[in-house]
Amino acid sequence: MDVDNGSASSGFGIQQQQQAISSTNTTAAASSSDGKKLAHITNKRFADLQISSESKRALSQVFKYEYMTTVQAETLPIILANGGDRDCLAKAKTGTGKTLAFMIPTIEQIINYKKSSNNDNVNVLVISPTRELAQQIATETEKLLTFHNNSLRKVVTMVGGTNKNKDIKELRGKTPFVVATPGRLLDHLQNSNLAQRMSNLDVLIFDEADQLLDMGFRPDIERILRLLQPSKNTRQTLLFSATIPEQVNDIANIALRPNWAFVDTVGEESEQTHQHVQQQLMISSQQDIVRNLFSILDRETSSGPYKIIVFFTTARLVGFMSELFNSVSSQIGYKVLEIHSRKTQKAREKASEAFRKSSNAVMFTSDVTARGMDYPDVTFVLQVGLTDRSQYIHRLGRTARAGKVCLFFFSSFSTTGGYLGSLADSYAYLLLAFYTFLFTGW
Ligand code: ADP
Ligand code: MG
Repeated sequence: MDVDNGSASSGFGIQQQQQAISSTNTTAAASSSDGKKLAHITNKRFADLQISSESKRALSQVFKYEYMTTVQAETLPIILANGGDRDCLAKAKTGTGKTLAFMIPTIEQIINYKKSSNNDNVNVLVISPTRELAQQIATETEKLLTFHNNSLRKVVTMVGGTNKNKDIKELRGKTPFVVATPGRLLDHLQNSNLAQRMSNLDVLIFDEADQLLDMGFRPDIERILRLLQPSKNTRQTLLFSATIPEQVNDIANIALRPNWAFVDTVGEESEQTHQHVQQQLMISSQQDIVRNLFSILDRETSSGPYKIIVFFTTARLVGFMSELFNSVSSQIGYKVLEIHSRKTQKAREKASEAFRKSSNAVMFTSDVTARGMDYPDVTFVLQVGLTDRSQYIHRLGRTARAGKVCLFFFSSFSTTGGYLGSLADSYAYLLLAFYTFLFTGW
C-alpha cells in the first residue's frame, strides 16, 4: 500500500482513459549540489536534454544541478515533444522537483513556439494555491531565466493581501510570466484587460492542484478556466499534483485537451516518506498542552541544530501560542516565527524567508505552509490536534527529505491516570496504528 493509495484509487478514471506512463527505475546514487543524497534523483543529465543552452547554463551554474529528478526525467520529454502538443497531468510528491519539471519545458515552448509576439501578451500563467508558493515559483523561474534574453525575464507575482494597483503597474508592458493565486487572478481577469492579454496563452500551469481544490478554490478555478477558454485548444496546459483525488481528475477533464498524458511517479516515491520518517503519537489533556509543548520543544531544541515546524489547527491558535512562547523567549532560549492567515503578506514572507535561511528555528503555522513549500533540513514536525488524511500526509511530507521525526499530537483525552489514563493510552496506540496504516501504508 502506498501513501497515496486512497486517492490513486479515486483516480482510476484517468488510468482507464489515458495510457499511464509508468516510472522507470533509474534511480542513481547521485547527489545534489549541496552534497545531500536525493533518493528521487535519476542518472539522466540536464546536459543531454534538447533544451536551450541558456537554461542548461542556469541549471549548472545557478542551480548547480546535474541530474534530473524522476518527475523531471519523466515529464520533460512528454511536455517538450512535438512542440508541446500534449497536455499533461503529473503526480509526484512534494519536494521532488515539480517546479523545474514544468518550468524548464515551458521556457522552451515560449522560445520556440510562441503563438504571438504581440507586446501585450502574457505567455505563461502559473496558478498556485498559496502566496508563499507563488513567490517560490517566481523565484525559481527567475533563476532559470538568468541567461535568457532580457525580453523574457519578467515574472510578475499576483497574490492576495497585496495592493492591486501594484499588480496593475507591474503588469504594464510585456509580461511573459505571471504567477498568481486564484482569488487575485480572478479579480484581475474580471476587472481589467487581463483576460484579453491572456487570450493567447502559450502555457497554463496548475501547481499543487490537489491543494488548490482542497482549499475550496474549485468555483474560482472553473471561472478562471471559462475566462481562459479562448486559448484552450492552442495552449499547453499542465497540472501538477502530489495526489490525484476525484476533484483533480474532474479539473483535468475540463482543462486539458483530450489526448493528455498522465505521468505517475508516486509508485516509486511512495516508500520514502514512511521509510524515513518516524511517527509518534502523544496524548495530552487539554490543560497540559502548553506544558507538554514546552517540554517537547525544549528536548528538540537542545540537541544540535534544529528546524522545527509546529502545526496548529487554526490561525487564531497559532497567533496565541506564538505570543505565549515569545513572551518567555529569553527563558526558553528560542523565538518562534509564525505564519498564518491572520498575518499580513509581508510578515508571512518575512517569516518564511527567515525560517528557510536560519540554521536554528522554530515556526508555528496553520496549514498554509503544509504543501508545496520547500524548507530545507526540517528536523522535526509537530502536529497539534487532529487533521484529515491528506493534510496529515502533507504535513508529514515536510520532513520527507530530512527524514527526521514526525510527532502526531492528539489532545482530547485526559491522562490524569487511573482507568481513564490507561484507556487513553490504549486508545492512543490503536489510533497510532490506525493512522500509520491508513495514511502511510505501514
Ligand atoms: P515540489 O514542487 O515537487 O514540491 P520543488 O520544485 O519545490 O518540489 O523542488 C524541491 C527542491 O528540490 C527545490 O529546492 C529544488 O530547487 C530542488 N531540486 C529540483 N530539481 C532538482 C534536481 N534535479 N537536483 C537537485 N535538486 C533539485
Ligand atoms: Mg511544488
